[in-house]
Amino acid sequence: MPSYTFRCEDCGNFTLFFKSMSGNKSTAECPDCHSLSSRVYFAPNLHKLSRAVSSRIEKGMEPQRMTHAELGAKPAKKKKVNRPWQVG
Ligand SMILES: [Zn+2]
Repeated sequence: MPSYTFRCEDCGNFTLFFKSMSGNKSTAECPDCHSLSSRVYFAPNLHKLSRAVSSRIEKGMEPQRMTHAELGAKPAKKKKVNRPWQVG
């Protein structure tokens, strides 16, 4: 069950649990004041890192949203070589 942390401007951070990872979970309603809160991204196992390193990772963890056009075309699949002597 995935859990995501969100930050409410008034109440602070809160964590919600979801049944699946599908769907857009970049925002959620605060359980206390019902205002729209944006998601906070954390790097895993940060307790092993120094505070300076972990904060830099957290700032860089926000994923970039890209369209298919921005990502570019998929690489062409390899052409199937015809080998009649090969089984399968
Ligand atoms: Zn709130």
